[in-house]
Amino acid sequence: MRNPVTTELHATFDTERRMARAQHPPDLAKVRTQTVHMYGRLEALQEQVIADTGVALACAKGCSYCCHLRVEIRAHDAFVLAHHLRTQFSLGQQAAALARIEANLHRIAELTPEQHVRAGIPCALLEDGACSAYAGRPATCRKYYSVSVDTCRNAYNDTAAPLTGEIQDETVRLAGNAVALGYAKGLEDAGYDTTLYELHFALHAALTQPKADKRYRQGKRPFVAVQNW
Ligand code: SF4
Repeated sequence: MRNPVTTELHATFDTERRMARAQHPPDLAKVRTQTVHMYGRLEALQEQVIADTGVALACAKGCSYCCHLRVEIRAHDAFVLAHHLRTQFSLGQQAAALARIEANLHRIAELTPEQHVRAGIPCALLEDGACSAYAGRPATCRKYYSVSVDTCRNAYNDTAAPLTGEIQDETVRLAGNAVALGYAKGLEDAGYDTTLYELHFALHAALTQPKADKRYRQGKRPFVAVQNW
């Protein structure tokens, strides 16, 4: 018999999928708005699950081990994040962020995705131990909670060692996925691209490829690979 929490999360996934499938975003502004609303539901559900289960989380301000991992996001996340940079960063901050994104892309291009996962490359948006684009961060970052700072620290300090120890609470993880993956599945049903892209690649493309918007609305992959990124 399925446990009641799992049943509820399956229902959440189905609801998110149905709602997203019914959307036919006429423009990118609508896509961004709908995605930000999804982030709100994701956060509310995870907060509820954390309160209900009483799980002790290890995440705290200033801790950024997970911002040194490979992060994969979808096009709708990249559009929200790019818009955040354009509207919340000064022109100088945008130029500096773009330079850091490109520097990271050059480093990442040398690695396989598997090597990149724990290569210890700090996200280009990480500044002084905190996310400089916190309000616009993608679903992957929002739904990730650790239950052991020791596990995160050990993985960061010795990237060659196998990952051992507790890392995530299963119910919190499933709650985040129920919303984020249900939403993505509904957009996919409606014909929109939901490929997972490496964060720097997708963000760079969303910032620099003017036709990404049109390609997305046509149901195509919005981001075109340049060089070997
Ligand atoms: S977008 Fe922000 S939260 Fe996500 S990895 Fe980068 S710095 Fe960390």
